[in-house]
Amino acid sequence: MFVLKQAAHAVAAEEARGQYVGDVYLAHPLEPVFMYIEVNSDGYIIQQHGQNPFRATKVGYSIAWSANSRAVSLFRKCTFAALLPFALPKLTLAIMTTDLLSRAMQNLERKGFLDIEVDPELDLVAEIQRLKREKNAIILAHYYQDSEIQDVADFIGDSLGLSQKAAQTDADIIVFAGVHFMAETAKMLSPQKKVLLPDLKAGCSLADSCPPHLFRKFKEKYPDHIVVSYINCSAELKTLTDICCTSTNALAIIESIPKEQPIIFAPDKNLGAYLIKKTGRDMVLWNGSCMVHEIFSHERIVKLKARHPNAKFIAHPECEPHILEMADFIGSTTGLLKFTINDSATEYIVATEPGIIHQMQKASPHKTFIPAPPQNNCACNECPHMKRNTMEKLYLCMQYEQPEITLPDWVIEQGVRSINRMLEISEKAGLGLKRD
Ligand code: SF4
Repeated sequence: MFVLKQAAHAVAAEEARGQYVGDVYLAHPLEPVFMYIEVNSDGYIIQQHGQNPFRATKVGYSIAWSANSRAVSLFRKCTFAALLPFALPKLTLAIMTTDLLSRAMQNLERKGFLDIEVDPELDLVAEIQRLKREKNAIILAHYYQDSEIQDVADFIGDSLGLSQKAAQTDADIIVFAGVHFMAETAKMLSPQKKVLLPDLKAGCSLADSCPPHLFRKFKEKYPDHIVVSYINCSAELKTLTDICCTSTNALAIIESIPKEQPIIFAPDKNLGAYLIKKTGRDMVLWNGSCMVHEIFSHERIVKLKARHPNAKFIAHPECEPHILEMADFIGSTTGLLKFTINDSATEYIVATEPGIIHQMQKASPHKTFIPAPPQNNCACNECPHMKRNTMEKLYLCMQYEQPEITLPDWVIEQGVRSINRMLEISEKAGLGLKRD
């Protein structure tokens, strides 16, 4: 693979100078990788050889040919150089690379991503943009992604909003730079599109705190209750849910349910407690939480506020009740971003994942944003699941279209009902989340 990549990148540069033609093909991921090329009597590559006898797929690179020797000299340097008999006239060559892709595929489930070395000199931004064009792919980046990932994305936002935007496009591939449940939601809303997640192990402590088999038993104890679930849950949990909600519309969803109707709220106990406080409803709460929003330090925030007396303290409703009590404003990630844009203050202490600060700073460059400190010794409170995604993994998953998120048809059919129900209620409440 390394050889192929090196040659292909050099050749792509030649192509840019107009000396192209020919394509590099990869065999099926589970088969050895071959590339067939032809060289002329001077040793210059003239074209790939006919049809690849394996189930080859175009990977998008091009081979330079004729009047340049760049590609050939690159091959000369490679491990297989000795195999190139340049003295022979027009000879077809088969080059077998090491079976790295095949091995990476076999390890995909265990590692969660394609563990293939990426050339450190590769211009990842340019490569990712090229793959987007060639594959008709779009990148969705959640607000909590690293800033460099946000900057190559087509859409940046909250999980549901991103999935809705992706469903409205004619893209063939959705790459979700976020966590597993978000990519599942994108798949549910765009079942005909291929959905990729750079790292399958980018999970979510909140979604994982509510395993569907345990929740099914829990639900059986309350047969007359309806289930409202926060969108931060697995696709399977959505099949056990009557109405989904987001942190933006949760209040409107609960208030739309008749007062006499008992409710189970899952999986976030902190958001549930906040909703109980705001609505006065007595809901049964599943005991789940987000590891990021649960460890803000009350004491350190108080000290920080004292050092920044003009700063407003803004918090996500997934935070614990004693943290929310201190907040000047409580809102979803998008709600917090909008608040900082429209509010007159110039300094904010932000109690949510600090990835959002990149967009806050871009929208209001003259304002100051301070991440609220957690109870440990770190200065910030990053989500380790979100941060599993890297530019290298993003590039590899677009290049090889793995790991892919797939869902059984019944999960899509049943799960999407709870999302549609939420969208109907949101639409009626004028909250802007509409059905597509
Ligand atoms: S910040 Fe919390 S809710 Fe969001 S993905 Fe990370 S663990 Fe899950």
